[in-house]
Amino acid sequence: MSTKLADLADKLAISVDSLKEKINELGFELSPRARTIDDETAELIEMELTEDVDEAPKDVAGIYDEMIAEEREREIVKSQRKQVAGKKKIKNVKKEVVQVRAVASGAVEISDNITVKEFAEKTGLNAAKLIGELMKNGILANINQEIDFDTCQLLADDFGVKLKRKRSVATAEDFMAGDISNLLKEDDDTVLEERPAVVCVMGHVDHGKTQLLDTIREADVVAGESGGITQHIGAYQVEKKGKKITFLDTPGHEAFTSMRARGAKVTDIAILVVAADEGVKPQTIEAINHAKDAGVPIIVAINKMDKPEASPDKVKAEPAEHGLQPEDWGGDVVMVPVSALAKTGIDDLLEMILLTAEMQNLKANPNREAVGTVIEAHLDQSLGPVATILVNTGTINITDNVIVGNTYGRIKLMRDHNSNDLKTAGPSRPIFIAGLAKTPMSGDILQVVKSEKIAKERAGEVNLMAKEEMHAAASGMGNVLSTMASEKILKIVLKADTKGSLEAIKQSLAKIKDEEVALKIIHAAVGSVTESDVMMAMASGGFVAAFHTDYDSPNVAKTAMRNNVEVRDYKVIYDLLEDVTKILSGLISAEMVEVPLGRAEVRQIFLTKKKELIIGCKILSGKALLKARAHVVRGKNEEGEDNIVGEVIINSLRKVDKEVKEIGSGNDCGMRLSGDLDVQEGDELAVYAEEEKQRKIA
Ligand code: GDP
Repeated sequence: MSTKLADLADKLAISVDSLKEKINELGFELSPRARTIDDETAELIEMELTEDVDEAPKDVAGIYDEMIAEEREREIVKSQRKQVAGKKKIKNVKKEVVQVRAVASGAVEISDNITVKEFAEKTGLNAAKLIGELMKNGILANINQEIDFDTCQLLADDFGVKLKRKRSVATAEDFMAGDISNLLKEDDDTVLEERPAVVCVMGHVDHGKTQLLDTIREADVVAGESGGITQHIGAYQVEKKGKKITFLDTPGHEAFTSMRARGAKVTDIAILVVAADEGVKPQTIEAINHAKDAGVPIIVAINKMDKPEASPDKVKAEPAEHGLQPEDWGGDVVMVPVSALAKTGIDDLLEMILLTAEMQNLKANPNREAVGTVIEAHLDQSLGPVATILVNTGTINITDNVIVGNTYGRIKLMRDHNSNDLKTAGPSRPIFIAGLAKTPMSGDILQVVKSEKIAKERAGEVNLMAKEEMHAAASGMGNVLSTMASEKILKIVLKADTKGSLEAIKQSLAKIKDEEVALKIIHAAVGSVTESDVMMAMASGGFVAAFHTDYDSPNVAKTAMRNNVEVRDYKVIYDLLEDVTKILSGLISAEMVEVPLGRAEVRQIFLTKKKELIIGCKILSGKALLKARAHVVRGKNEEGEDNIVGEVIINSLRKVDKEVKEIGSGNDCGMRLSGDLDVQEGDELAVYAEEEKQRKIA
């Protein structure tokens, strides 16, 4: 198809002659009698002549000019050649112009990992220039190399291009692993807004966790005003000083741990309830260790202050023994005396939560598609599968299509904890939803997606992976090893029969030290192995070491098996230490060591090229191998050691006139070398091989 020149001239409001002139100026071959041009060229010319480059960011306009100028120059030369070739070029120019225009008009969307070539194509930047710029920044990349978003950003900044991260739908692997981090990434801090803190309540049984949660909920003005029926949905939100706080309504660290074990990270602050009359108890210590391992700040609520036997100072001293120094004693842990029953100190506690939240700078982007975590879920007789979701980021809307773990759905009902119907819910808000195809599990990730089709597909993939995983049924240690491989920390939950043996083991383990890998006892206690120990090991990706102790119930073995957690029994400390050393050694990366092969004397330099050197040598000892590396040795240094002046690679090895792979002592040979080419006659080549060697923990 072709376009009439007269029509195009009209469109551009210029005369046909000046249009022809401009076309020629742009380097396109046009016969003086031509009346039409092909559509592609017309489009390009129109684009060229109407493009308002000035509106583009300055640097981008610069790139544009330069690129077009280069292309024009080449075009002029080419246009004298065959027309076919010329046409092809025009297409290329067009493509690049379109790209540069895209860059000029706004941000370029880039997904997380992209090759240099794709990046060049998307931004319209010259790939060679990009590689040069990467090199300047110390990154050696070829055109097919993948670069991450941060590197792209670096390049974009250098070239004045605006980037936007393309938000990907979580992969089936992300869903399986409960890995939410990828989904929460936000490159532009300016889109983030403050979000309410999500708080959980932990502590020893009967210290008043449930009472505290009830009292806080009842005291809430918002709930009171609405007069609504509160419904236990696993989480609720209260308001204090105009700010909201979200409470996870399942007290105890079991819920916290099982969710963490599934990879979910929902809690921002942990309230540790300690009864003022009883003080720190075993589950208090467990809770402290859970929160510490998860890196969640702790606020201690010293409860039951109404009791005459309450002694807050005694209670304050006890958590201090476990690393929680009260603020008023110079530490950094806030301890608030309260009475959940008498409803005193609650305001102080809420204020402290707000203060801690403020220090944590909790933020999320409300203006994006939502990502959330399942707090709890069940099958409702009339509503079908229902779930309580905590919105991590974004805003969820009624009728949104969602993927949740290995299921999917369309939100047909959305309510808050007061049973109020909602149309939308933003970050940190707990919501009760219905409309899912199946009941998800707590800790599952929810993500809003564009269509039901995507949701269905992804859920299918996750399902398939889950089945495969069940078949594979990896051993518990497999889990431990994969967690360790990424974190390089071996985490142990240690249980022993007596305090003496516990201390002895702790001391022995402390002696195992290595610069590359670490050992961390996340919890150590006297007594039998409990389900909670197993869950803690699972949550942290570690294992349970049981020394001369048994399981406190038959459920422990079942929980361990179901969750793939390894519980190892030891009767001798030595066995435990040996096991730990073995596991840690497996984690250390292999070292490359040099194995000397032989020495050769450089007798003659035959030829010096830009990147290559051809020399004549005599093998003094050992042997030389094709493709081996060699140090170039020139005499001895002050310490009497080889004075190494360079590194070379033997690219070819010749004996008389035959290529050989190996040559032994006493032989003359020819070598073609690359590398540091400052080799002189009389130098020696210390030829060596490189071998991987596994280091062991001492
Ligand atoms: P949980 O097991 O930690 O959830 O503890 P609960 O909230 O069930 O409380 C255990 C018992 O302690 C109940 O009988 C409560 O009434 C009581 N309790 C909780 N808080 C207080 C308090 O502040 N003062 C007094 N005197 N009793 C309390």
